[in-house]
Amino acid sequence: MKKILSSLALLTSFHVSAEAPQNIIMVVSDGMGPAYTTAYRYYNDDPATPEIETTIFDKYHVGSSSTYPAKVSGLVTDSAASATALASGVKSYNGAIGVDVNEQPVKSVLHQAKQIGKKTGIVVTSQINHATPAAYMVHNKSRQNYDEIADSYFDNRINDQFIADLMLGGGWQYFIRKDRNVVNDFKSSGFHYLDDYNQLSNLPKDKPVLGLFADKGMPQALDYGDKYRLSTMTAAALDYLPNDKGMFLLIEASQVDWGGHSNDIAYSMSEMSDLEKTMAVLEKFVEQNPDTLVVLTADHSTGGMTIGANGDYAWHPTWIKNLTASTQSMAQEIGDNGLDVLKLQQALGFQLTPEEQDELTTQMDKALAYWTENEIKFLAKGYSQASTVTRKMRKAITQLIDKRTNTGWTTSGHTGVDVPVYAFGKNSELFIGQLDNVDIATTIFNLLK
Ligand SMILES: [Zn+2]
Repeated sequence: MKKILSSLALLTSFHVSAEAPQNIIMVVSDGMGPAYTTAYRYYNDDPATPEIETTIFDKYHVGSSSTYPAKVSGLVTDSAASATALASGVKSYNGAIGVDVNEQPVKSVLHQAKQIGKKTGIVVTSQINHATPAAYMVHNKSRQNYDEIADSYFDNRINDQFIADLMLGGGWQYFIRKDRNVVNDFKSSGFHYLDDYNQLSNLPKDKPVLGLFADKGMPQALDYGDKYRLSTMTAAALDYLPNDKGMFLLIEASQVDWGGHSNDIAYSMSEMSDLEKTMAVLEKFVEQNPDTLVVLTADHSTGGMTIGANGDYAWHPTWIKNLTASTQSMAQEIGDNGLDVLKLQQALGFQLTPEEQDELTTQMDKALAYWTENEIKFLAKGYSQASTVTRKMRKAITQLIDKRTNTGWTTSGHTGVDVPVYAFGKNSELFIGQLDNVDIATTIFNLLK
């Protein structure tokens, strides 16, 4: 049966390749397992109406995908192996950037799009040389080689052309270094460079564009002036990239995963909110440009996050709806200036109970008084006491929020569960059903002939 189905899929893709979409937009939401899109539905629900409103994700859900990496790395993937699978259709080891298990380069769908004359772009909220975009752009045996990866963004060519026409995200510290200034290389090769986020609306259409807006990843949505920075950058890309030969655009909601790693539900939900707005921008674009395919999936799930925990049949997202800053900023404030309950309540958007205040005070006393051997080593290396207090108090705040909302976590790492797949626009029916991450690349390759 499986064989018949896959040859059917092959037939269908051959059938449509004659009229493949002009524009392909791939959206990766890093770490967004099924619990995240479910949680987001309830987080986003309007409490004033009796029904639970559906989300834009619900509207375009077409199936799910397995994410396991090459056998050598077991069943739980990292973002590099999974991005390599999504980009190239090849399963590799955890850490691999656009290379197979033998460390040999593999071609990505972005490369293929460039080769057939389309414009290409990447829009991310991490540094632009982070694992997911890197696997679409270049080849490296390790995701940790950030400087080498940044260099190859400039050095590598596809048909004598630069790999991408547009790159937006963070990454000054990798592109502007003592040993090499890759930004200057791009500039002297005719790129328009911007480091001012407010200049996004004036991108010159006659030049390739590099926009870097942060040292590493961009600030969390909760801490940024524009809470919808991914959506704003996407709108700028959709204004810039379209042309008569079409485009391939990779968009990554990079920090849903970072919220998961920190077991920080408020962080992940605010990043999901930016992603939802981004999907709305894409929906509008497809309405006006029906010759466009949009696919959204995740590379894996993070944190083992779940809604409802500790035997209690309840989840209360209302407590994360009114934050005016990230838990990281709240903890930073405490690390720098001490625990001020009034200030913290203001940032959380709710009143702390006397028990919660006692618990935070206890955690603060502990953070100041008790040091593990590791922390003493960190201090010796020059880490400040404030940064250790910040880290511990962030944990205390996220745990307080978990208790209020009844959110559960099983790990600070990734899990191996399947992830949801969403698609709309031309040929979106090719992504219906139970897929594996390599199928997504294979189908896109078939549409890029
Ligand atoms: Zn991750």
